[in-house]
Amino acid sequence: MKKPIIGITAHMPQNDPVFQLNPLYAKQITAAGGYPVILAGETVLPPFLDGLLLSGGCDILPQYYHEEPHPLCAYTDPKRDSIEFALCRMALRQKLPVLGICRGMQVMAVCCGGSLYQDIRLQNTAALQHMQNAPRHCATHRVFLRPHSRLYRLLGSEALVNSFHHQSVKDCGDAFFASAFASDGVIEAIEHRTHPFAIGVQWHPEAMRQYLQQNIFLAFLQAAACFHRYKEDTSWKN
Ligand code: MN
Repeated sequence: MKKPIIGITAHMPQNDPVFQLNPLYAKQITAAGGYPVILAGETVLPPFLDGLLLSGGCDILPQYYHEEPHPLCAYTDPKRDSIEFALCRMALRQKLPVLGICRGMQVMAVCCGGSLYQDIRLQNTAALQHMQNAPRHCATHRVFLRPHSRLYRLLGSEALVNSFHHQSVKDCGDAFFASAFASDGVIEAIEHRTHPFAIGVQWHPEAMRQYLQQNIFLAFLQAAACFHRYKEDTSWKN
């Protein structure tokens, strides 16, 4: 069978034709049996994709969730926001598998009517350290997975994760439910209620060495392979 093709969004610096993407995303897609393709500025989903990976990056412009900017909100890139919202909405409509990582999870929530805390300290002054002072592959805090969620089936009831975020999801919108929490109440993962595979995680599984974290990429690629077969089955109708 052909390898499922996964589009990965990238950071495109303003006035700079060079995109930026941590190679670990592509590496994990390859390791899980997929073929990674970098989306650098595409505003519509290429029809050959079997999955969409929304990568990590800067903050989302607070306007998109109807808030004024707080002084603790960091760098935003409204162009990347609007492109990723459009791609994410299209993917959800087409039932294309979507995996959101860090900012990618926040994009999924906000584009479906959810909102963020512009800084975790505004949610909880006793919050954990979510911008860790440890190497990327190190797990620093625990997350608790919701029973019966897909992530619970992939990771178990509790997992150790890395953490590189200063914002968090306040409201994940009606289409999603929160499927993982840190001990301070911060939402660490969301899952779509009806879509076959639309999951967002606040941590960076692509950078972790824990064997179990690969399950997230394997499940994503399995969903992408199903999507690919479905496309081929129905192609005679077009
Ligand atoms: Mn965290």
